[in-house]
Amino acid sequence: MKKTAGIVIALALDLGCGVALAQDSHIEVSQLADRLYLLSTDQGSYTTNTIAFVGEDGILLVDTQSEDDAEELKRAVDAFGRGTPKYIVNTHRHVEHVGGNAAFGDAPIVIAHALVPAKLRSGSYLFDEFPDETFPDITLADSLTLYFNGERIRILALPGSHDDNEIIVHFTESKVVHLSSLVNGFNFPSVDADGDVLRFAELVAKAIELLPEDVVIVSGHNDTGTWHDLQSYHDMLVQTTEIVASGLAEGKELAALQAENVLGEWESYAGSYVSVDEWIEYLVDALQAAEEPKRTVYEPLYYVWNDRGADAALAHYFELQREHPEEYQWDDFTLLVIGNKLLANDHIQDAVKFLDASLEEYPESPYNYYANYKLAEAYYRLNDRERAARYCEKSLELNPEFAAAIALLEELGKM
Ligand SMILES: [Zn+2]
Repeated sequence: MKKTAGIVIALALDLGCGVALAQDSHIEVSQLADRLYLLSTDQGSYTTNTIAFVGEDGILLVDTQSEDDAEELKRAVDAFGRGTPKYIVNTHRHVEHVGGNAAFGDAPIVIAHALVPAKLRSGSYLFDEFPDETFPDITLADSLTLYFNGERIRILALPGSHDDNEIIVHFTESKVVHLSSLVNGFNFPSVDADGDVLRFAELVAKAIELLPEDVVIVSGHNDTGTWHDLQSYHDMLVQTTEIVASGLAEGKELAALQAENVLGEWESYAGSYVSVDEWIEYLVDALQAAEEPKRTVYEPLYYVWNDRGADAALAHYFELQREHPEEYQWDDFTLLVIGNKLLANDHIQDAVKFLDASLEEYPESPYNYYANYKLAEAYYRLNDRERAARYCEKSLELNPEFAAAIALLEELGKM
């Protein structure tokens, strides 16, 4: 059962809610150390963190936000007055960490884990069609030391928890580290299908061992913390795993563990990504060694779409569903994810086809507020303001608080 992981991934990573309408800057800049700055974007229910290291040699960035926030990030980086970054280090391949690479052109030397190039051309990422500038120039599977701005920067691969390609970046003199998504802003971790819930404790323990006690910890998302926070986070991982494992050993099932609120003591780790109940579910799934996740349909659909267009790709989707129901994973967000990515890459008519199909096939999906909103955005870009307004209204019927739909409706002069 990988449902939770799928939803978290789809919403948090693939459906980043940024929309290219008039918006005030939402990058917050704060100082972490003498020459180190935290550039944080507010994504609504969570933040995404970039580090800028600024000195006499120029700028090094750790992570570059999503493509939607790239122009703003670029403006914030330009404001340091040190030109285009010399280096970009991507802590893992997810779109909120690599999406802004291309905005800086091909001058920066991009450093990432050795698995990142292949990952950016597989699965749902095929539909992102990342330009060459997004891809790393240097990859590592172990460690790398960089001397820049007079400082020794340790870059270490610690893959296998949130995803399978995380690297951490330690500024040894400034005493700041970016721990990728090993810590999720000191909330319960989120886990990709290629990650492993049960490896967090071991990898966090490794990070604790590698780092000095007075280090400032930046994570991919949300709050920064201390070495002692990292220790508590590690203890939480170990203890919550033990409690859920012993519940399962007593013959309890997921629903019972949730109803008994067996992890209530760790409520303070609940965040917008992962609630207490979801963390219990992650642990139950992992401890019961749920079967390998099934293949997704992104790759077969991408190649059909690329060769023969959206209608053929959608026909292929239904054909696979009819003829190979057991081989692939079927869910209520794949068509939406594809529609969203096609729209982001200006394949507007094709996006409309996928979004329409998503609404038609999955009328009960909890993501339909988002599908309706994306249709509104598509029609807005096609200059069909009437239809755009109607889809905005449908989106707001399903999710009255949805800020992006409210903003678009205002833009359309309907609010
Ligand atoms: Zn991630």
